[in-house]
Amino acid sequence: MSQPTGQKKIVVVGAGWAGLGAAYHLSKQGYEVTLLEAGAYPGGLVAGWQTEKGRSVEAGIHGFWYPYSNIFALTDELGIQPFTPYTRSSQYSPAGLEVESPIFQREPYLPTPLGTFIYTRFKRLPLIDRLSALPLLYSLVDFDNSDEAWHRYDCMTARELFKQYGVSERLYKESFEPMLLVGLFAPGEQCSAAAALGMLYYFILAHQPDFDVRWCRGTVGEMIFRPWTEQIEQAGGRILANHRVTDVRIGAGNKIDAVVCGDEVFEADAVIFSVGITGMKKIVGQSEGLCDRPEFRNLSNLNGIDVLATRLWFDRKIDIPLPSNACFGFHETTGWTFFDLNALHDEYKDEPGTVVEADYYHANQLLNLTDEQIIPLVQKDLAVCIPAFGEAKVVDQSVIRIHQGVSHFAPGSYRYLLPGKTSFSNVFMSGDWIVTRHGSWSQEKAYVTGLEAANRVIEQFGQGQPASIIPIVPDEPHIQASRVLNKGIRSITQQVLPNFWLP
Ligand SMILES: Cc1cc2nc3c(=O)[nH]c(=O)nc-3n(C[C@H](O)[C@H](O)[C@H](O)COP(=O)(O)OP(=O)(O)OC[C@H]3O[C@@H](n4cnc5c(N)ncnc54)[C@H](O)[C@@H]3O)c2cc1C
Repeated sequence: MSQPTGQKKIVVVGAGWAGLGAAYHLSKQGYEVTLLEAGAYPGGLVAGWQTEKGRSVEAGIHGFWYPYSNIFALTDELGIQPFTPYTRSSQYSPAGLEVESPIFQREPYLPTPLGTFIYTRFKRLPLIDRLSALPLLYSLVDFDNSDEAWHRYDCMTARELFKQYGVSERLYKESFEPMLLVGLFAPGEQCSAAAALGMLYYFILAHQPDFDVRWCRGTVGEMIFRPWTEQIEQAGGRILANHRVTDVRIGAGNKIDAVVCGDEVFEADAVIFSVGITGMKKIVGQSEGLCDRPEFRNLSNLNGIDVLATRLWFDRKIDIPLPSNACFGFHETTGWTFFDLNALHDEYKDEPGTVVEADYYHANQLLNLTDEQIIPLVQKDLAVCIPAFGEAKVVDQSVIRIHQGVSHFAPGSYRYLLPGKTSFSNVFMSGDWIVTRHGSWSQEKAYVTGLEAANRVIEQFGQGQPASIIPIVPDEPHIQASRVLNKGIRSITQQVLPNFWLP
């Protein structure tokens, strides 16, 4: 498509959910968009590709939870139906099956959190342990995702929070810690309490159906990113893979006026960074201009987390009761999940054997192992959950190591996370680690912050329509009332008591 003259040049760095979201909207609004991606394929942490044998693999299986309204609106707009129906899931420990979750939207609707407590089928966890979660509800009301609430809860670890509210050891170990390992990719003593509360509320507790999840019927790369990138290019956007940004050029008037990729220089009227924490730290480390600003050099205080994604092809059909499964208690500080791809992916429906994805989160100690060491370990873990895996033969495999790839919401990290606007007047941030008041997490958050960054560009140049961003569903009335009451009490106590104790 030919570009009209006078178009503003926007350079977007990183082609994950955030960068693609920003690039798509701005291309549609007539901006001259160049999207620079270091990797060989767009998609970022969700990228998928084919092995030499022509088999589809990806960097871990990605679920799409019920509240992902903006992503669902996008796939509707693209005219694609990439998702499976909502699926049930289970949890295993070395002792066997522990929990089965129903499809919550099919159960009679109860005010939160009753549905979650009543409809989740715990096989072993005694009622007394489950009831020990009740006092924690106060902190869920108190944490309202405001800047002030983040500061109040961020310096505490999630484990300290659960201990403070009297959660039983068994409930913590068998329920909360597995959720943290899968949702925030780290054990409780390494997670910010603020992030834990935000994540648990968004995915599980805000409304009864929120924990319902569906999956792509193939790799997200093939089912969503391929048709999406085609539409970005049709709208005039340029997507340049294998383009690793190494520096920026500082211009006049508190602006960055170009982005540097080795020998290539891309002029820019505005820049959107959509790279993960580790990628951003690398760019800052090479850039004198960015290092000069405290907000960017302080990113050295943030970190990513190691993840391992494996895909195994077995020689025979194995009965896996539910398609998605989370596991805990197998490895100290590492959580893992496994997925029945014969059930989820169209490509593997008629496969003669079984295709399983097993992903390990907070997998630091596993990343240095060879594939030959990893595969028997995965098979052993699978066999503990479903013994038939022990007798089957692995006929093909894929092992993907994601070093420092996912965002670590460590205790005390909030003060270093960047907001969408930076101290450069024409540089905006997006990604799943950027501060936003939207309230979403993970892929949905990354996409939403991409749209927010696009809207900041539109606000700056006054050209085009802002993207409409669907807010999360409001709190239920009893939660709203409890929040108002709690805020009132908090403000009275603050007026009466001296500002003396740690917040
Ligand atoms: C195994 C695994 C399982 C997960 N499961 C789920 C799930 O079930 N549901 C869910 O919602 N989320 C899940 N997530 C999290 C989800 O993948 C992320 O939240 C989301 O993809 C982040 O998107 P992003 O656009 O912010 O960043 P990223 O996807 O990290 O994209 C950043 C991009 O920037 C590029 N880049 C980096 N440096 C440079 C540079 N110098 N120049 C140019 N480009 C650069 C990278 O190559 C990358 O493509 C999972 C993640 C993993 C790893």
